[in-house]
Amino acid sequence: MTFRPRYTGLIDRYRDRLPVHDDTRIISLGEGNTPLIRLNNIPRLIKQNVDIYVKYEGLNPTGSFKDRGMTMAVTKAVEEGSRAIICASTGNTSAAAAAYASRAGITAFVLIPEGKIALGKLAQAMIHGAVVIQIKGNFDEGMELVKQIGKETPITIVNSINPYRLQGQKTAAFEILEELSGAPDFHCIPVGNAGNITAHWMGYKEYHEHGIVNNLPRMVGYQASGAAPFMRGKMVDNPDTIATAIRIGHPQSWDKAWVVQKESNGWFDECTDAELLAAQKMLTEHEGVFCEPASAISLAGAMKDIASGKIPQGSKIVCTLTGHGLKDPDTAIKQSTRGVLTTDAKLDSVKRAILDNLK
Ligand SMILES: *Cc1c(COP(=O)(O)O)cnc(C)c1O
Repeated sequence: MTFRPRYTGLIDRYRDRLPVHDDTRIISLGEGNTPLIRLNNIPRLIKQNVDIYVKYEGLNPTGSFKDRGMTMAVTKAVEEGSRAIICASTGNTSAAAAAYASRAGITAFVLIPEGKIALGKLAQAMIHGAVVIQIKGNFDEGMELVKQIGKETPITIVNSINPYRLQGQKTAAFEILEELSGAPDFHCIPVGNAGNITAHWMGYKEYHEHGIVNNLPRMVGYQASGAAPFMRGKMVDNPDTIATAIRIGHPQSWDKAWVVQKESNGWFDECTDAELLAAQKMLTEHEGVFCEPASAISLAGAMKDIASGKIPQGSKIVCTLTGHGLKDPDTAIKQSTRGVLTTDAKLDSVKRAILDNLK
C-alpha cells in the first residue's frame, strides 16, 4: 500500500504560482482541493443534454471559497508584520477572517450589516473571537468605512481589494483544469463584488498562457435581480435579495469583471430570489448537495441559459457553489417541503407516519 502525502492547503500545493517565499510562515487550515461533482439527476430532470459539474466550495474549512483568499491574505499580512486585519462582510469573509486570524494569533475586526447576515456566519465570527462591529447600514457602506480605516491605521484590509485574496482564489480554476484535463465550455459563478469571477479568470488564463491547457471557458456571472449592478450597467443603491452573500450594489471589482466578460466572450445575467431558491432545493433533493442560497444562483442561471439556448446542448459546464448550506439554516428550514412530523412515542403512530410517506 502506498500513502499519498498529506494535503496541507493550497499555498503548499501551488507554491510556485503564488507570491510566497521559501521561508514564509504559511497560515493554513487545509483549504482548497474541493470536490468537483458531476450532476447525475438534474440534467435528466430538466431534459437537457448537458454535462454539469458543481465545484463544491462549501467544503472549505470555514464553509466557503473565501478561505482560498484568506489563507493568502493572512499569510502575507503576518509576513509583513501586521498585528490585525479588518474587513467589511456580508458574512463569509468575516467567518474566514476570524478563523485565519485565530490561527495566526492576530486580531480580526469585522464590519457586518445589521440583521442581514446568515446565522451560521455570525456564529463563526463570534466563536473565533473576532471583534464584530454591526453597522446600521449595508455592505457597501461598511466597505467605504473599512477603506477609510485602512488609510488611517496600520490594520490590513482583507476584503477582495487586497490583491493576495484573488491570488489565492485563482487556485480554484487550477483545480478544475487539472480535474477535467482542460477547461469547461462555460463557467457559471455568482457575482457580488466580482472578485471571484476575476480570480477564476486569472487562474484559467495563467494555465493557458503556460501551455498547461489549450482552451479557455466562457465566464458567465449571475446576480440576484434585486442586487444586479452588472445588469443595470450602473451601481445600485439599495440592493436587496434573500441571498445575503451577494447583496451588494457597489461591486469592488467592477472594471476587472467587465474585462473578464469581454476577454472570455461571456456575459452577465440575473435570477430572481424564487429561481435561486428553487435551484438550491433541487440540488439538495436530487443531488444531495447542500449549498447556500447565493451559491445556487450559478445553477439557477445555468439552467435558464441552457433552456434559452444561450448555453448550447452538449456543453460542459462548471457551476461554482460558493458556500455551504449550513451557513443559512433559517432559509433551509423555511424551504423544506416536508417539515417535521410529530407523533406519540408508540409503534403504531410511528408506523403510520412511515406508511403515509412511502415513495
Ligand atoms: C463572497 C460570496 C460570493 C460573491 O463573491 P464575489 O467575489 O464577491 O463576487 C458569492 N457567494 C458566496 C457564498 C460568497 O460568500
